[in-house]
Amino acid sequence: MTTRVELSALARRGMESIPVYIGDATPCAVDLSDNTNLWGAPPAVLRALRSADVSVVARYPATYAGSLRDALLEHVGLSGADGIDVVTGCGSDDVLDSAMRAFAQPGECIAFSSPTFSMIPTFAQLNGLTPTPVPFAPGFELDAERLVDVRAKLTYVCAPNNPTGTHVARSAIDYIVQNAAGVIVIDEAYAEFAPEVFVDLCTASDRVLVTRTFSKAFGMAGLRLGYGIGDRNLVRLVTRARGPYKVNALAERAARAALTAGTEGRDWVLERAAEAVENRLRLVDAVNRRGLTALPSAANFILIPTRRARQLASGLATRGVRVRVITGMPAEPRELADCEGVGLRVGVGPWPAMQTFLNALDEVVACA
Ligand SMILES: *Cc1c(COP(=O)(O)O)cnc(C)c1O
Repeated sequence: MTTRVELSALARRGMESIPVYIGDATPCAVDLSDNTNLWGAPPAVLRALRSADVSVVARYPATYAGSLRDALLEHVGLSGADGIDVVTGCGSDDVLDSAMRAFAQPGECIAFSSPTFSMIPTFAQLNGLTPTPVPFAPGFELDAERLVDVRAKLTYVCAPNNPTGTHVARSAIDYIVQNAAGVIVIDEAYAEFAPEVFVDLCTASDRVLVTRTFSKAFGMAGLRLGYGIGDRNLVRLVTRARGPYKVNALAERAARAALTAGTEGRDWVLERAAEAVENRLRLVDAVNRRGLTALPSAANFILIPTRRARQLASGLATRGVRVRVITGMPAEPRELADCEGVGLRVGVGPWPAMQTFLNALDEVVACA
């Protein structure tokens, strides 16, 4: 018999502290916890999947989902841009993770404003990088100077930012693009809901990678597809770090349908996004009238920083409404000073679902 070695001693250093992502999958009447499209998937996508020749699953898909390249560039308004290319991935998570491997050695830093997308510190740790959080300036503006001062190999900017929903000013991003020491990743997972997008910056600098996803506005989270846009040479490096066959054949087919002009494809997506923006304004208003404070949002969710977050969420859950409790937020900027690091993140969807949330919230607040 071989000598018994503790598995934890065999694991790579730091593995024990990597969190396993917890998503609550138990059925509930109204799930506002994951920022997906609460109207569902575009009709053109459902049709494309139903009519698909499913025998293709016996073979490998395209190595790099090349059939999406031109449609994606057109979608983001860069079809004529010189020297710009696209990398796809199994969700934009895959693109973000690959970008870290492509540009930073183990031990090097990735700088980002905190709080931000929870997967960033996790992917950083997995790739041996040192997550370097920088507080937001007042009003959730990026503290561009402090971010640049980190001299990080990678600087990550989430615009609009998850979990706060807040928009970031172009001037701060411009400063970072002009002064950062390394590569700048701009995560536009919520671009379709934002008043302003920054994808044009990848034509201004060959060190800017802009990532987007089919998981949020496009209603295709279950298919796992995301992409990154940037200078051809930058994209080539991310593609190498990514590896082949990350986008499955059905996802690629569905995405082509989603990007097709028409009231069942791309226009459907943009119309639902416009409706989400209207409902977001109504929801922020309704929440604020109930004595809570929601941050102004540029995404399809709102954040309510409140020390009662856990209690409110469990009361809502009892009433069939699931929201996300955000924890571990810093005490800066001052909007987060009194919430003890916790808040409720609430997805925005069709108004009847929002009304169900508000009714449940009224009951929970009355009981408290
Ligand atoms: C949801 C989300 C993503 C990515 O999701 P994928 O499903 O992996 O495409 C990326 N960034 C942010 C900020 C998100 O909220």
